[in-house]
Amino acid sequence: MPGEPQADCLFCKIVEGQIPATIVRESDTTVAFRDINPQAPTHVLVIPKVHYRDAAALAAAEPTIAADVLREAQTVADEEKLESYRIVFNTGAGAGQTVWHAHAHVLGGRGLEWPPG
Ligand code: C5P
Repeated sequence: MPGEPQADCLFCKIVEGQIPATIVRESDTTVAFRDINPQAPTHVLVIPKVHYRDAAALAAAEPTIAADVLREAQTVADEEKLESYRIVFNTGAGAGQTVWHAHAHVLGGRGLEWPPG
């Protein structure tokens, strides 16, 4: 069923507490935790509790929850007191997506170049 937990999904396991993570925020529909391999002084991932393979699938099926993810990402940036930051949804292998459960990266605390690599 779309949105149901997937047995082989790392982020579903984090949602269910089966894999440890440094959780910074949780809402009814989302979890935010520190990236295990941070690329900036602040690097937090915000994920929906429901399983969709990427941001596009989440937005199509659950637009309200997609908005929750974005609002939580913004709240993380506020709480981390980031003046400049980037909220990124890598979507597709060619864009660097490696975990197939929708997630927003919140990156900040250093200068960020544009265009990204
Ligand atoms: O956008 P992408 O799919 O590449 O991002 C996945 C992210 O999940 C990576 O930044 C990786 O470091 C992170 N990760 C994590 N905890 C895990 C496995 C992956 O924070 N247990």
